[in-house]
Amino acid sequence: MAKDFANAAGTGVGPESRSVQSRLNFTLEKESSDSKARAATFQTLHGEVTTPVFCPVGTQATVKGQTVDTLKASGACLILANTYHLLLRPGPEVFKKFGGIHRFMNWDGPVLTDSGGFQIFSLPHAREMNEEGARFQSYVDGKSYLLSPESSIEMQRAIGSDIMMALDQCIDATAPYAQAEAAMHFTHRWAERSLRARGDSPQALFGIVQGACHADLRKQSAAFLRELPFDGLAIGGLAVGETRGERYDMTELVTEHLPRDLPRYLMGVGTPLDILESVHRGVDMFDCIIPSQLSQRGVAFTSEGKLQLRRTVHKLVENPIDARCDCQTCRQYSRAYIHHLIKSDEVLGWHLLGIHNLTFYHRLMREMRESILRDEFLSYYEEKRVELARSDERNPGRQPKKPQPARPARLGDYEIHRSPRGYTSIRQISSGEVMHSVNAPADEADKLYIEQACLAVRLLNGEAPADELVIWDVGLGAAFNAMAAIRCFERCAAMNDTALRTMCLVSFERDLDPLTLAVKKSGHFAHLRHAAPSHILESGEWRHSSGRCRWELLKGDFRDLLESAAIPDLIFYDPFSYKTDAALWTVEIFARIFQRSLPKSAELYTYSASTAVRAALLAAGFFVAQGIGTGPKSDTTIAFATAQGVQDHPASPSLLGANWLTRWRRSHAKFPPALSNEDQAHFEKLIETHRQFLSEDILRARAG
Ligand SMILES: [Zn+2]
Repeated sequence: MAKDFANAAGTGVGPESRSVQSRLNFTLEKESSDSKARAATFQTLHGEVTTPVFCPVGTQATVKGQTVDTLKASGACLILANTYHLLLRPGPEVFKKFGGIHRFMNWDGPVLTDSGGFQIFSLPHAREMNEEGARFQSYVDGKSYLLSPESSIEMQRAIGSDIMMALDQCIDATAPYAQAEAAMHFTHRWAERSLRARGDSPQALFGIVQGACHADLRKQSAAFLRELPFDGLAIGGLAVGETRGERYDMTELVTEHLPRDLPRYLMGVGTPLDILESVHRGVDMFDCIIPSQLSQRGVAFTSEGKLQLRRTVHKLVENPIDARCDCQTCRQYSRAYIHHLIKSDEVLGWHLLGIHNLTFYHRLMREMRESILRDEFLSYYEEKRVELARSDERNPGRQPKKPQPARPARLGDYEIHRSPRGYTSIRQISSGEVMHSVNAPADEADKLYIEQACLAVRLLNGEAPADELVIWDVGLGAAFNAMAAIRCFERCAAMNDTALRTMCLVSFERDLDPLTLAVKKSGHFAHLRHAAPSHILESGEWRHSSGRCRWELLKGDFRDLLESAAIPDLIFYDPFSYKTDAALWTVEIFARIFQRSLPKSAELYTYSASTAVRAALLAAGFFVAQGIGTGPKSDTTIAFATAQGVQDHPASPSLLGANWLTRWRRSHAKFPPALSNEDQAHFEKLIETHRQFLSEDILRARAG
C-alpha cells in the first residue's frame, strides 16, 4: 500500500480521488513552479482561511496579553486553543454552557484545538499510558483524568473548535526506531478511533503523521493516514529535539507523501525562518508560542533582524521598533518607551510588543502568499531568508567571536559546567559536584519542586488569599528552584490576581558566587533573564509589581538561620549532597526543621532518595513518602510534618511502607555514621515504632 501512494504522491492526487468530501472545501489556488510552496483557501464553520497561515497560540482561551481586537488588527485569522489546559480549567461544562469557545472568549473567527497529546507526553512522570489512552493527574486540582481518543474528541466537540486534532502519541524526534515505530502504530489506531468518535459532527478533523526522524516510518505513517477520511493532515513530533536540518528534511519528505488536496499543518513550528523554510517545502499551516513568548522576554522581530529591547542601546531611541512596520505599537510608541516597559516588567510592554510580533508573523504569511500567487516565491524566499537570519546589525551586541578560552568561566570555587547532554549548570570545583547533575536544571526544578509541590494549586486555590504561602529554598545555588517558583507565581498572577495567595520565598545561601557567576553568564541561563536575580544579589530582596510576592535572601549557614526565618509551608531542600555537606543531612538538622515545620504542617521536597536520608527524616519525626523520579533518578523524597499533610496533598503521594522498612533493616547504611551502640538502639526504635509503619499489616507481619 505504501508503495502505491509513494508513486501517486509525485504526480499528485486530485480532489476527485477522495471518496469522502472534506468538511473544509479545500481549494488549492496555486503551486509554485520552482518551489513546493502553495497557496490555498478553505472554509470553516467560522469563516474562510487563506494559506499559508499562522495560528497564534491561545493556550487558556486567550492569546497571552492580547484582546480579540488586537489579535484581529495584527492579522490573525485562525487561533489555536489547548484542549489539555481547557479540560482541566475551566472544564467542559463551561464550554457546554456557553455553546463553545467562540462565545466564551468573544472570538468569531475559526479556532483549531490540539488533542492534548503533546502536553500529556511532555509530562512523563505524571501519566500512565496504555491502548485505551493516557491517565494523568491534573496540575489544577490533583484529580486523575483519562485522555483517550474518544475523550479528547468529546472535549474538542464541547469546545466547539472548527478544526480538531486526533490524539497522537508524541515522542522525541530523536527517539530510536523501535520506540518511534510503536508510537506510530498507537497513533494510527487512535486516529481511526478519533474519526469514529467525531461521528457526524460538522467540525473538521486532522490526523497526525508520526515516525520521529525515521524516513521509512514517516512515509508509512503518511501513507496510512491519507487513506482515512481526514480533512487535513499534520506533521507531529518535530521541533522536539532534532536539528534544524533534520526538521527540514523530515518536513520535505512527509509533504511529498501527503495528498495535494488537503491542508498540511506543521505543529509547533516555529521561528519566522523555520516557517519560511517549511512553506518552501510544502507546508500550509503553523502554530507556535514564539511571538508571544519572546514578547515577554523583550525580543522584537523586525526588518533589521531580531532586536533585544532590554538592551540599553534602545534607552533613548525615539524611532519605533521597526520603521517599516505599520502595527499599532510602531505607529504610536517609541523604542525607548517599550525598552522602559520591558525593563520594568510592565504587562503593557508585553502587550505592545506582542502586537508588533504577531503583526510581523502575519505580514510574513501574507507576503509569502502574495509571492506564491504571483509565482515569485523562490526569489522572495532567497531574499527573505537572509533578512530573517540577521540580528540587530546596527547595534551589534558583541565583537566577532574570539577563539574560546579552553578553561570554563569561573568565580571563586565555582565554574560553568557544560553537560554532554547539552545543558549548562554550575560546578563546585573543590567537590566536583554539579548542581542538578543529571537533568536539565530548569526542568528538574520545575518537575521536582514546583509541579510536585503543586505550587500553582496552592497559589490559586487558597481558601484565604491573605494567608501568606512561605517557601524555603535551601541552597539557592544558581537560583534554578527559586526562579522556577517565581515564574510559577507569575503564571498564576497572569491567570487570576484576585484570589491569588501572597507568596514569600526565602532563599538560604552561604556563598553567592554560583549565582553571581550564572547571572554574569546569563546567555547560558535562560531562567536568570529576569529582574529578580540581580535585585537579590544587590539588595537581598525582590518584590513582584503586584505586591503579592517577595523573595528574600538569608545569607549565611542554614543551621544558624532556620529558626529566624518565617515558618514554612513548603521546603525545597536542595543543598549539596551528603558527601559534600554532611551537616545538612543529619537527624539533628532534620529534627530542627521538623520543629519549625509543625505549626504549618510543612512539606519538604528533596532530590535525595537515599536510605540514610529517609531514615534520618523519619527519626526526626517526619512522615516520608516517595517522590517522583526525574530523568535517570528513579525516585526522590517528600517529607511531611504531619499525617494530615499527607492526606491533604493534592497528588496523594504514597508513604514508604513495609517494603522500604525491610530494605532499611538489611541496609549497610542503616544508621547515621558515628552513633554509639546505645544511640543506634534508640535510632532503630524511632524508625521501627514510627507511626507511619504502624498499620495493621505491619503489626501482623511483625507478629508473624
Ligand atoms: Zn510594529
